[in-house]
Amino acid sequence: MSNLRFNAVKEANNRKPVEAVVPEMKTSDYYGSNVFNRKAMKNYLSKETYKLVTEAIDRGTPISREVANHVAAGIRMWAMERGVTHYTHWFHPLTDGTAEKHDAFVEHDGAGGMIEEFSGKILAQQEPDASSFPSGGLRNTFEARGYSAWDPSSPAFIMDDTLCIPTVFISYTGEALDYKTPLLKSLEAVNNAAKDVCHFFDPDVKKITTFLGWEQEYFLVDEALYAARPDLALTERTLMGHESAKNQQLEDHYFGAIPRRVQEFMKDLEFESYKLGIPVKTRHNEVAPNQFELAPIYEEANLAVDHNLLMMTLMKRVARRHNFRVLLHEKPFKGVNGSGKHNNWSLGTDTGIMLLSPGKDTRENLRFITFIANILLAVYKHNALLKASISSATNAHRLGANEAPPAIVSIFLGSQINEILDRFENSTPKDAIIVDDKKELKLGVGQIPELLLDNTDRNRTSPFAFTGNRFEFRAVGSSANCASALIALNSAVAAQLQEFKKEVDTLMSKGKSKEEAIFEVLNQYLKISKPIRFDGNGYSKEWKIEAQKRGLDIEDSVPLIYDAYTTPESVKMFTDTHVMNSVELHARNEVKWEMYTKKVQIEARVLGDLSLNHIIPVSMRYQTLLLENVAKIKQLYPEKQYKIMAAEPLRIIESISLHVNEINAKVHQMIDARKSANRVEDAREKAIAYHDTVIPFLDSIRYHIDELELTIDNEMWPLPKYRELLFIR
Ligand code: ADP
Ligand code: MG
Repeated sequence: MSNLRFNAVKEANNRKPVEAVVPEMKTSDYYGSNVFNRKAMKNYLSKETYKLVTEAIDRGTPISREVANHVAAGIRMWAMERGVTHYTHWFHPLTDGTAEKHDAFVEHDGAGGMIEEFSGKILAQQEPDASSFPSGGLRNTFEARGYSAWDPSSPAFIMDDTLCIPTVFISYTGEALDYKTPLLKSLEAVNNAAKDVCHFFDPDVKKITTFLGWEQEYFLVDEALYAARPDLALTERTLMGHESAKNQQLEDHYFGAIPRRVQEFMKDLEFESYKLGIPVKTRHNEVAPNQFELAPIYEEANLAVDHNLLMMTLMKRVARRHNFRVLLHEKPFKGVNGSGKHNNWSLGTDTGIMLLSPGKDTRENLRFITFIANILLAVYKHNALLKASISSATNAHRLGANEAPPAIVSIFLGSQINEILDRFENSTPKDAIIVDDKKELKLGVGQIPELLLDNTDRNRTSPFAFTGNRFEFRAVGSSANCASALIALNSAVAAQLQEFKKEVDTLMSKGKSKEEAIFEVLNQYLKISKPIRFDGNGYSKEWKIEAQKRGLDIEDSVPLIYDAYTTPESVKMFTDTHVMNSVELHARNEVKWEMYTKKVQIEARVLGDLSLNHIIPVSMRYQTLLLENVAKIKQLYPEKQYKIMAAEPLRIIESISLHVNEINAKVHQMIDARKSANRVEDAREKAIAYHDTVIPFLDSIRYHIDELELTIDNEMWPLPKYRELLFIR
């Protein structure tokens, strides 16, 4: 066997589990110990400062420089007592993941020595030298610099020796250069719009919180095998590899026991998460071999997004300790399930009501139907945008593949809710909403059964499903920043709720009762939004045809999908909700196209190199062996016998030539396609060129390599095979 592969397989197979280092304490004893949370604030801030900071967090009131100074002093003391020497502003650039630049606390003391310092000014605002972060030309057009600014609503935390301060990242002219800024704005938009609508039902509501519960899927691969696969190391996905004879057909991995090595990894990961106040709750195997899932208890969405990003970082680090590499790519292996990140999304009031839960009485249920109908319409109107919000070069491999929904956004509601909505839609206001003598509101559609919560049918093929008290946006990619999906969803829903409020107010001003007005508007919404409701099999071919008939967006070219961000409807929606302006939307699309191009470009390069330097040489070496074999047969045996004996080796020799020639020709065609795509100036056009002219080669080259993998002597094949990569012992 090829040395590199042989050694890697041996190393992986002999690997002993690395024991997790978890102290013998209750989780609650160390939970949040590395977070400057309210408990820490109470201990390290004066009563007055504590009050002002928590008010800022709860109500978004501004924090003065003086208060920031007090907070900074408290955080510094807290952090230094925990061995911290550095600090960083931690932000979410438009690439996936997070960015940080560490500075030490030390400053000159003016007397030749050093003192530790951390002022409110540094806490509140910094100028990272960020010219290398993608900005879609924003910073060039406006102002050469961007700055990061403290987000007090997400608490500071400690990673190793560094204090991390969650921040937004914006240009000097105020355009967002990150995900957090528009996320916070979209949360505020939902708060305002949903609060207004809630007031139709309950005047006491003062705040609406958006909740997010993410479920993170991922793969683990042994470090040695990962190192022996340049494609995994450079692109996080296997660009070649024939399916293993056994992969997930037996469905034994999902129900199987978690391997010891993985269990130890999970224990360590959970310990690290708890210290950072990430409330992880569920861990299990996923469908594919080596695939796992991790899910926390849901939290306020901004915090949940930070926690997910932090978790992705933690996973990568903790995996190393256990000689694993974690793959967050949406489709690391062909022929087995890919990874998503389900975004469980819901809205709640400060009065303790979950707005997407069916209520106990008819008034509550009218409110429930109000929110469901508005969400249906928002998702219907902006289905193309929502798809754009989850689209990327990597997620494109998952959506549309046969285990994932196609690149079409639809909503699954389940039979119970469908029935209730249908009855509501088909009744008259008089039947539907009855105000009796005691001024009690009755919903003619009857009670919504309490059973519902546990009884929602699980349609795994839907990209956006109602699951009893929340919607589950399942099309989100495993490597994505959840904020992207949330920004689009929150803004669309907020804009819709604003419109609903306006329409109801208008009808009331014309003399309709509140209930009648609400009924009339909802009734209309349910009719218009019908096409978005689909409970059938989202994987089926028929659905794509049907969806097109319904006028849903079925575009599946990622560069073109991004156009949905800058349609007049999207620009108006984002502007009306004050989440993003037209300039930002255009600039951010530039970044998306650039990212898309780069990812495909790297894959094409890696595949080209591997083809020419690994696959073709090995194939020819094996072919030479066969040729020698044939020559010797010819020497030793009479013609008649030679013909019989050489038939099979000759067939293989020819087949190798055929595949090698095809690979060679296609690699060179792909290089030409890349070269001409690279000459395209416009970011959008370039991404389209990569999509249309480069990507097709990735599959067609792979086909020939995978055929060769089945032909070439196993001992010679240089790259670890699927059967070696995919089954952790
Ligand atoms: P599934 O059955 O879909 O695999 P779970 O029932 O374990 O998942 O829940 C998945 C996620 O949904 C968890 O992160 C959980 O915290 C979250 N979740 C539950 N209820 C809500 C809610 N009301 N709003 C937002 N997220 C929620
Ligand atoms: Mg789920």
